[in-house]
Amino acid sequence: MRIFFKGFNFSQDGPGNRLVFHLQGCNMKCPWCSNPEGMSFDGGTEYSVDEVVREAVRSRALFFSGGGVTFTGGEATVQWSELLNVLKKLRDLGIHTAIETNGSSQHLPEIQKYVDYLMMDFKHFDDERFLEFTGTRIDSVKRNFEYLTGIGRQLHIRIPLINHVNADSPEGFAEYFSRFDKGNTVFEFLPYHEYGKDKWKGEYKITDAFVSGEQIETFKKVFAMYSLKVIET
Ligand code: SF4
Repeated sequence: MRIFFKGFNFSQDGPGNRLVFHLQGCNMKCPWCSNPEGMSFDGGTEYSVDEVVREAVRSRALFFSGGGVTFTGGEATVQWSELLNVLKKLRDLGIHTAIETNGSSQHLPEIQKYVDYLMMDFKHFDDERFLEFTGTRIDSVKRNFEYLTGIGRQLHIRIPLINHVNADSPEGFAEYFSRFDKGNTVFEFLPYHEYGKDKWKGEYKITDAFVSGEQIETFKKVFAMYSLKVIET
């Protein structure tokens, strides 16, 4: 597995204290990405699946408050075969697992079987806007969302709120989600930030992207109107 960063955090990438592996490579090209060093398919450091498992086992005592191991990116599912392999081994060892994914992988229905806590980004509900900002079509993300809610699995949807990108459309998001959610999904809003800006080597194209407190409150109110459960982490 090619990994460009690893470290611990508490409750930011799944429940409790977690060892987080950032896997190299992403199939999307979001101009606000806060980990641009993880977007390229080249780079990162190669670890075998067994090395990752051994590190998880060594760290076990630190997985307090329901913690465990999280795989994020880049995009965690780009290296889907290794990911599947490591998730199966961690499950056999009784170590709690989480992934954070952009939701586009055709392998997600298989991968999710071995994931205890699933986080999925949802950047826009409109195909044209999604394509414009991520460089990929939304079909596979919607297909996965509809499949995962359909089987009633736990799902934590993360929506980056970005001015001039998606922050003007709370009803569009809520209306779409409410058609499929069966009560096992929680939604989190991630207001735009610039933490990744200095890491961009090329031009940083996002401007005037911060959302106001009022915009965030509007999203909360609209989601509540549609009986969608909003959480903060
Ligand atoms: S999907 Fe995530 S990792 Fe990939 S480019 Fe977009 S923000 Fe970055």
